[in-house]
Amino acid sequence: MRSVEIVIVGGGPAGSSAALRLRRAGREVLLLDRERFPRLKLCAGWITPEVVSELGMDVRAYPHSLITYPRLRMHFGRWNVPVPCVQHSIRRVEFDAWLLERSGVEVLEHNVRHVEPDGEGFRIDGAFRCRYLIGAGGTRCPVYRELFREANPRASELQLVTLEHEIRYDWAERDCHLWFFGHGLPGYSWYVPKERGWLNVGVGGIAARMKNSGHDIRGHWEFLTATLAGLAPGAQYDPTGYSYFLRGNVETVRRGNAFITGDAAGLATRDLGEGIGPAIRSGLRAAASILEGAPYRLDDVTGSSLGSIARSMFHRSARAGALAGLRGHAAG
Ligand SMILES: Cc1cc2nc3c(=O)[nH]c(=O)nc-3n(C[C@H](O)[C@H](O)[C@H](O)COP(=O)(O)OP(=O)(O)OC[C@H]3O[C@@H](n4cnc5c(N)ncnc54)[C@H](O)[C@@H]3O)c2cc1C
Repeated sequence: MRSVEIVIVGGGPAGSSAALRLRRAGREVLLLDRERFPRLKLCAGWITPEVVSELGMDVRAYPHSLITYPRLRMHFGRWNVPVPCVQHSIRRVEFDAWLLERSGVEVLEHNVRHVEPDGEGFRIDGAFRCRYLIGAGGTRCPVYRELFREANPRASELQLVTLEHEIRYDWAERDCHLWFFGHGLPGYSWYVPKERGWLNVGVGGIAARMKNSGHDIRGHWEFLTATLAGLAPGAQYDPTGYSYFLRGNVETVRRGNAFITGDAAGLATRDLGEGIGPAIRSGLRAAASILEGAPYRLDDVTGSSLGSIARSMFHRSARAGALAGLRGHAAG
């Protein structure tokens, strides 16, 4: 059995952010992920200026696909509202691998199945022992399932279901489009062009409320592809589904030396289902708690995505700074 001080389960934004902070402080950390990176992660890949700043990222130096949008096009029925702001898109397959490598953590490919308390620490699958354990394994995180689910059951009315596909496509429309509430969708659908000839399209809505509107997510996908016919003519899609949870009353996020972060804790914003920012913030806080003995609280890590978009509209210096680093085809 291998003993390490800190084990992180999951190498998405939550796990790699915790790893970065802990490794920079010189702590002994092992990160376990069931997949080999770079790995596919279903996600539109929209990130806010707050995420860029929390990660200490210089968008001009980022080595992979990144577009900075000077506006979002929001659709409400027949209304098409261009919202001037500063937001970015990345490809998760690249972004997550880059974050993980940047953290300098040792990564082992291992599908964690069983976690049990062992004195002040934990045992994992009879193969690893650690003093601190960070659960960053997304919606199906085994640390959540084995140590937190009973105290923190997930609220079914906050379950978001999605269908999405990222395809190679030589897009001509360079703005990001969002359609809200079309055909009774309790959520929104999106068209997100990515740098270097990629396009991400998808639809997401609250599962329980969708039932009441008489359509399932497949029906909404059909509406979306009809809408996209003019924006991305000839594009062929084969979408995949994934589900995660919007922010609820997350009360128990630490038990002894075990922490849950990101989607494992169900932290995505209630308005737009933005989960990357809350994942990063919670990962950094779990690390700070281990390093400084600070209380681990997540009350304020989620915030509102629309608030963040509004700040990027009105905060002149943030806007000027981000626009100075405008990258990708949107700059053209
Ligand atoms: C279709 C879709 C679109 C989205 N679009 C956006 C967006 O545009 N912007 C945004 O901010 N958010 C978006 N989100 C939400 C965002 O993707 C998540 O909130 C975010 O990825 C959460 O990060 P995380 O680190 O908590 O988990 P994840 O990114 O899910 O990472 C979890 C990691 O844990 C690993 N793992 C899981 N189980 C195990 C196990 N048993 N053993 C070992 N490893 C394990 C997985 O392989 C994975 O690498 C979207 C989500 C979906 C589904």
